[in-house]
Amino acid sequence: MGLLLIGMQGAFCHAQRQVVLPLDSLVVTSGFGPRIHPVLRKGDFHRGVDLRAKQSAVKTVMAGRVSSCGYNPILGNFVCISHGKLESIYGHLSFAMVSPGEWLEAGKVIGVSGNSGRTTAAHLHFALRYQGIFLDPIQFLFAIRNSER
Ligand SMILES: [Zn+2]
Repeated sequence: MGLLLIGMQGAFCHAQRQVVLPLDSLVVTSGFGPRIHPVLRKGDFHRGVDLRAKQSAVKTVMAGRVSSCGYNPILGNFVCISHGKLESIYGHLSFAMVSPGEWLEAGKVIGVSGNSGRTTAAHLHFALRYQGIFLDPIQFLFAIRNSER
C-alpha cells in the first residue's frame, strides 16, 4: 500500500487530475476489516469501505477498463474496473452506466449509488484489489481528498 501511494503521488502532479474520489463527499460509515455484519449479525470480514451516499453519481477513481459489471446477490449492481494490477469495485448501485470492456477516463460517471444487493440502507461499497488481494482503501481515499484541497 505504501508503494502504491508513492506511485499515486506522481499522478496527482499531472495537469489533468488522474485520481479522483468516487463520490463528491467522503464520509466513511463502515471501515475495512473484521466486523459484525449489519444484515447477517455475525462475524464477517468487510473487504472494502462503505461510503455515505443515497442516489449520487459514482465516478471511477482512475482511468481503466471495465472488467466486469452486473448483478450479484451480495454486491447488488456492481462495476469492477481494471487499472492494471489494481482493480476498483463499486457496489450496491441503483444502476450502472457502463459496459464490460469499455475504457473510462478518471472521474467518468459509472452509475448511481443505491441499495441493491445485501444492504440495510443506501450507500456505496468501494473496494480496491491489488493483484487479487483486497486492500484497505481508506488511505487511498483520504490521500485523494487531501490532494484536492
Ligand atoms: Zn461494504
